[in-house]
Amino acid sequence: MRDPPHRVVVVGAGFGGLAVVKGLAGAPVAITFIDRRNHHLFQPLLYQVATASLATSEIAWPIRGLVRDRPEVTTLLAEVVGVDAAARRVRLADGASVTYDTLVLATGARHAYFGHDEWEPFALGLKTIEDATKIRRRILTAFERAERESDPAVRQALLTFAIIGAGPTGVELAGTIAELARSTLPRDFRNIDTAKARVVLIEAGPRVLAGYADALSDYARRSLEDLGVEVELGRAVTAVTADGVVYGERRLAARTVLWAAGVRASPAAEWLGAPADGAGRLRVEPDLCAPGHPEIFAIGDTVSIAGPDGRPAPGIAPAAKQQGRYVAAVVAARLAGRPAPASFRYRHQGSLAQIGKQRAVIDFGWLRLTGALAWWLWGAAHIYFLIGVRARLSVALSWLWIHARDQRAARLITQGAPQGGAPP
Ligand SMILES: Cc1cc2nc3c(=O)[nH]c(=O)nc-3n(C[C@H](O)[C@H](O)[C@H](O)COP(=O)(O)OP(=O)(O)OC[C@H]3O[C@@H](n4cnc5c(N)ncnc54)[C@H](O)[C@@H]3O)c2cc1C
Repeated sequence: MRDPPHRVVVVGAGFGGLAVVKGLAGAPVAITFIDRRNHHLFQPLLYQVATASLATSEIAWPIRGLVRDRPEVTTLLAEVVGVDAAARRVRLADGASVTYDTLVLATGARHAYFGHDEWEPFALGLKTIEDATKIRRRILTAFERAERESDPAVRQALLTFAIIGAGPTGVELAGTIAELARSTLPRDFRNIDTAKARVVLIEAGPRVLAGYADALSDYARRSLEDLGVEVELGRAVTAVTADGVVYGERRLAARTVLWAAGVRASPAAEWLGAPADGAGRLRVEPDLCAPGHPEIFAIGDTVSIAGPDGRPAPGIAPAAKQQGRYVAAVVAARLAGRPAPASFRYRHQGSLAQIGKQRAVIDFGWLRLTGALAWWLWGAAHIYFLIGVRARLSVALSWLWIHARDQRAARLITQGAPQGGAPP
């Protein structure tokens, strides 16, 4: 009689989990692929949904469709709430459980408010499709309300957009909102001049894009200022309310506040009772196993692993993908009785961020680019990493349209009554 196949449970169908499943193609395994959402999401372009540049279906794919040709993969729409490591079971929110021989936790991270959870209703974070459409609703509704507002102070607060955190997401949000206000919307409104909208990017540190070389970060700041963004550096936010933001000694009346500052890992470390870093990331072994559990791997944004130079692998998509491919290779090697690959080693391929039309920065380490060339390369790289011909063509066409006509077709206020800039 043949042995039953080795049961691999992969929790999370983001960049890391998907790479594991892809990497195990052909291995003698039965995979259960669990995610609490039914889609894989290309988070790097989420801000484009939030700013009405792309539609949701251009950056997300049903998980079932991605593994339809893999009969050994069973997809479950379910939320994992715990791991019983002794019994080798993951526990689901509905009380059911799924048994594994090998478990891979790839449950990502979520935005976090540095201990100020009370800010969350007012400072929207960006992580899921729902977050993006909520932000899009908030931005577009603010313009709608301003169009009907007679009190100049309220109108100005409606037309003020504060973004907290000047990493790639904050920079991309600020640049695109400025372009939306100055290029796309002006001819659509009659009572307000949308080009006078204020976009204020607030950063506690001394630079925008702090992870980039100084020259690129300077370029990004200047480009934002050219687009009309007010860049406020070196001032930490101390309060966020329905009326706006307090940072340093300043109070800014803004009805739309977006959060692009902190993240916290999923509770994978808590599920295992294992050590974590300050952001809740599970400290894994050099082969990405949980301490004391060679049968449990954890990858991507939910883990912390230092490279040979002691620097942690960054929380970005290529790191999650590389870790996913590595774990698949370890599992396949174990099942084949081959020696396991050497310890995981992250290889940084480069950093890219878009600031606005014809403005981007690229840092490959050996080559640094800014301006139009960087922007075209940024676009080509992102189109390449999307899944399938349909999404690639659709995104390319949407971007060409925005570039040529300044039109953003996804300017839809959905999922909720258009009550305005105040938090729902
Ligand atoms: C707005 C934004 C912009 C970004 N821009 C870039 C960029 O330009 N370049 C770049 O390289 N990286 C970027 N990143 C980071 C990148 O997206 C992440 O590093 C990457 O997604 C991490 O992959 P992951 O597999 O660890 O987690 P994720 O891709 O987040 O996937 C986690 C999956 O786990 C599922 N899940 C979570 N908890 C549970 C649970 N309890 N039960 C079941 N399922 C669960 C989630 O639904 C999700 O599908 C960006 C991230 C964000 C939020």
